[in-house]
Amino acid sequence: MATPSFNDPATDLATLCQPYLARILAAPVYDLARETALQPAPRLSRQLGCDVWLKREDQQPVFSFKLRGAYAKMRSLSAAQLRGGVVTASAGNHAQGVALAASHLGARAVIVVPATTPQVKQDAILALGGTAVSLIRHGACYSDADAHATQVAQDRGLTSVPAFDDPDVIAGQGTVGLEILRQHAGPLHAVFVPIGGGSLAAGVAACIKAVRPRIRVIGVQTHESCAMARSIEAGERIELEHVGLFCDGTAVRRVGAETFRLCRRLLDDIVLVDNDAVCAAIRDIFLETRSIVEPAGALALAGLAQYTARHDHDHAGALVVVTSGANVNFEGLGDIARRAAACRDLQPA
Ligand SMILES: *Cc1c(COP(=O)(O)O)cnc(C)c1O
Repeated sequence: MATPSFNDPATDLATLCQPYLARILAAPVYDLARETALQPAPRLSRQLGCDVWLKREDQQPVFSFKLRGAYAKMRSLSAAQLRGGVVTASAGNHAQGVALAASHLGARAVIVVPATTPQVKQDAILALGGTAVSLIRHGACYSDADAHATQVAQDRGLTSVPAFDDPDVIAGQGTVGLEILRQHAGPLHAVFVPIGGGSLAAGVAACIKAVRPRIRVIGVQTHESCAMARSIEAGERIELEHVGLFCDGTAVRRVGAETFRLCRRLLDDIVLVDNDAVCAAIRDIFLETRSIVEPAGALALAGLAQYTARHDHDHAGALVVVTSGANVNFEGLGDIARRAAACRDLQPA
C-alpha cells in the first residue's frame, strides 16, 4: 500500500506523544481492568519463523481491552456528570466496559448498539450493567448507533462517553502499550494492533513512540473495513459507504479526528487482510493457547502473518500481537472453522 504520509519526518514526535504519555501513566484503569499477560507463542513463532508474543487483552474481565478506555473516561467525569447519567454508542465491547464502569461508579448509562451486535455482547452488556444500564438497538453498524447516541445525549442531557475519539479513552487504551514495554525489556521489532475507530492504535503508538520510537507500530484492518488506511491515504478522514461486519469490533465507517491525527503521524504502516485470513488466525490462536478470540481479536495476528510473509526475516527482535477481544457468538464458530480449513496454512508448520 502506498502510504507516503506515514512517519512524516517533519513530525515532532515528542510534542505529539509526551502529553499522551503523561495521561497514560496517570490513567486509572486498574480498579477494574487487569494487567494482562504478554506471553510467548512458540508454535506461531516456529510457524512464522520469528519471535511472536501475544498480549492477551482477550483475558480482561469484559473479554476485551475496551474496559481500560471506558473506565479511564468515566473516572474523568465530575460527580455531577456521573449523577446525571452517561450515554454511549458501541459496536458491543466498549459498551461492556461502560456498563461495568457505570455499575462500579454508581452511574446510569444509556447504551446504543447497532442491531447487528452479536447476542453474546448484548447479553454481557445487560449482565455487567444490571439496573445501571438501559440498552437501545439502533442501525446497522457502529456509525448509525453513534448518530443516534448523539441525539439521545442532546434530548436527555446525558454526558457522552465516546468509544474511541477522546483523549482519556485513548490514554486508557494506551496502558496496553505501557504494559508491553514493561513486560518485554528485550529488543522489540514491532507491535501489531487492530484498528477500528483507532483508539487502541493511537494510544499504543503514542506510548511506544514516546519511549522507544524505533519499535514499529503496525495497524491491521480488513479490506472491507479500512477507514483508517483510506483516510491516511487521502490525507483526511473519509467516510466509507459500506463497511463489512465480519470483524464487528472494528467495523466503523469513519475514524475519530483525534485518533486520525495520532495514527497518521505515529503508525509505521497499516496492513490489510481478508476475512479468510482472520479465520485462519482465530484457529492459529486457538492452537497456540486453546482460547477462542473474536474476529477483531485475531486481526493483528492475521496482519503479522502477512507482514512476515512479505518482510522475509529482515527483522531482529520480537513481534507482539494484541489479541484484543474474545466476545464471539458460539453459534458462529462452525463457519469460522470451515473458512479457516479452506484457508491453507500461511507457512508450513
Ligand atoms: C474496539 C475493538 C478494536 C478496535 O479498537 P479501536 O480503538 O476502535 O480502533 C479491536 N478489537 C476489538 C476486540 C475491539 O473491541
